[in-house]
Amino acid sequence: MLLEEENQQTLTGRYYRALVLTAVRQYHAISRIQLRKVTGIRLASISKVVKDLLEEGLLEEAGSGESVRGRKQILLRLGSASGFVIGVEFDVNRVIGLAVDLTSRVVSQSQKKLPQVVNRKRILNAIQEVICDIIKQTNQNQSKLIGIGVADPGVIDIRKGISVFSSTISDWRDVPLRSILEDAFGVPVMIEANTRTKTLCEKRFGVGKEAKNLMFVEVGSGIGCGLMNGKELYRGFTESAGELGHVRVLENGPVCNCGSYGCLETQASLPALASQAVRAMKEGAVSRILELAGGEADRVTAEHVFEAARQGDKLALGILDKAAEYLGVAVAGAINLFNPEMVIFDSKLGLVSELMLETVKRVIQRQALAVATRDLKIGVSTLGEEAGALGAAVMVLDKVFEIPQRTVPEFVEV
Ligand SMILES: [Zn+2]
Repeated sequence: MLLEEENQQTLTGRYYRALVLTAVRQYHAISRIQLRKVTGIRLASISKVVKDLLEEGLLEEAGSGESVRGRKQILLRLGSASGFVIGVEFDVNRVIGLAVDLTSRVVSQSQKKLPQVVNRKRILNAIQEVICDIIKQTNQNQSKLIGIGVADPGVIDIRKGISVFSSTISDWRDVPLRSILEDAFGVPVMIEANTRTKTLCEKRFGVGKEAKNLMFVEVGSGIGCGLMNGKELYRGFTESAGELGHVRVLENGPVCNCGSYGCLETQASLPALASQAVRAMKEGAVSRILELAGGEADRVTAEHVFEAARQGDKLALGILDKAAEYLGVAVAGAINLFNPEMVIFDSKLGLVSELMLETVKRVIQRQALAVATRDLKIGVSTLGEEAGALGAAVMVLDKVFEIPQRTVPEFVEV
C-alpha cells in the first residue's frame, strides 16, 4: 500500500517548513527569492510555508533587501517574540540559567549560589527557582516557553532523562531530572553532560566557531572532553564518550573514583592538585601554598596551588608541571584517535596558561603523530561561566529546528 496522499503532503509540508526555518536561522535575514535558491523549493510552496510561519509568529518581516528586477525584496527573519528556550547548568556550588529567543539571543539570566552543604532536595529546589526566575524576567507568558535544556555535571542516562550519579553531591543517585522538570513546567526537557553543552557553545559562539572537528578539554573536579564532528556532538554507543579523565597515565597509580588505578583524574584534576600539595607538605615540603590557605592544610585548593606557582613556589610549579605532562599525554592520545582540527582548553587552564599550557602543548607535539599536529590549532576558551547553560539552550533550539528525516517507508505486501 502506498502512503496516503494527505500523509505525503504533511510529511512534505513539515520538511519544507523545517528547511525554511533552518535557512532563515542560518542567514538571519533572507528574502523569499533567496530562500528558493538555497532550499530548492518552488516559489509557490515557499510563499505558502512563509505565510503560515508569519501567521504563527515564527517568522517576521525585517525590512527590504536588494531589489530584483526593480522590485525590493522583503527580508524575513525569525520571530523574536514567538517563544523562548531555557538552559540551566548546575553543580555543587551553584545553579546558573538563561533564556534565549529563537535567534539564540540571551533574553534573561539568573543564578543562585548554593550553601556549603548541599543535597538532592536543595539542588532540585534551586534549579526550579532559577527557572521560575528566568521565566519572570523574560516578560513573556510561560506559554511561550518551548523547552528546557539541562547541563549536568555527573553521569547521565540521556535516553531515560535520568541524572545517574554525581561524585560531588552526596545523595544524588538516579534522579529522574527530566520527568521532574517536565511535570513542573509542562514542556519537553533535554539533559546532556555539561562538558558536551560547553563544547557545543564553543562551536557556536567561541573560538571553535570555524573548526569542522573540535575537541574541548575541561579540567575541573574531574577531567572530560567533548567532541564535535561538523555540527554533531559525538556521544558514543552508550553516550559515555569523552571520559578523558579515566585514561590510565600512571602504572600502579592511586585508586580512582571509577574503581580503576592511575587514571589521569588522580593526577591532574583540581582536587588531585590540592591533595598532592597537602601530601607533600605533610612529608615536610616547604611551600607558600600553606600560607595562602591560611595555615590550614584542610583548606588547600587548586587555586592556592595556582597562586603559589604564579609567585614562583617550587612545590606548586613542580605539581603543575607533572600534571600538565600527564594531561598532555592523554590529550595527545585523543588527538591520535580523533584527529581534531582544533583542541580548546577550558578557561581554568587559561588562568594558568603560562604555567601549564606550554607544557601541555610541548607534550602534544612530542607524543602525537606529526600528521595530526601539523595543522592542529590549540586554543583556550574565552566564553564566560554561562557557557554550559547557553550550550544546553542551543541544544534544545537545534531540536526545535531539526529537519525531519525522510526515510524509505516500510512497504507491505499488496
Ligand atoms: Zn578513573
